[in-house]
Amino acid sequence: MENLIKKLREHKISVTPQRLAVLAVLESRRDHPSAEQIYQEVRRQHPAISFNTVYKTLEILHQRGLVIKVNPLHEVARYDGQVHHHAHLICRSCRRIYDVEKEFPALALEPGDLPPGFRVESQTLTLWGLCRDCQKKSD
Ligand SMILES: [Zn+2]
Ligand SMILES: [Zn+2]
Repeated sequence: MENLIKKLREHKISVTPQRLAVLAVLESRRDHPSAEQIYQEVRRQHPAISFNTVYKTLEILHQRGLVIKVNPLHEVARYDGQVHHHAHLICRSCRRIYDVEKEFPALALEPGDLPPGFRVESQTLTLWGLCRDCQKKSD
């Protein structure tokens, strides 16, 4: 818990029990939970917390770089407490998200590749496919 307090302070986020609880859930899970799943877990310790508070907390943590938002198109956002450089593997059927701990080269962009004036802030790599369980189901 002390580590989490330090982390929030280092990122200039004021420490509240709710923020600590949200961060603790993110640090303990590797399955890239949705805001709803994080809310359900935080609620066990903080029954009075609202979904809105959890959602806002996630947005603050995201803005300050403490959480990655894995945002598969047309899906609800999923959150990741692992902010180091890594790729994601998503099963297109069950939507499970796995971490892939492998460095990948950044796209070498040249002038003309992007709309004029566009500033790139991050590059992510997402691999899509079917996990073993889902392959069995579709056979
Ligand atoms: Zn699957
Ligand atoms: Zn991840």
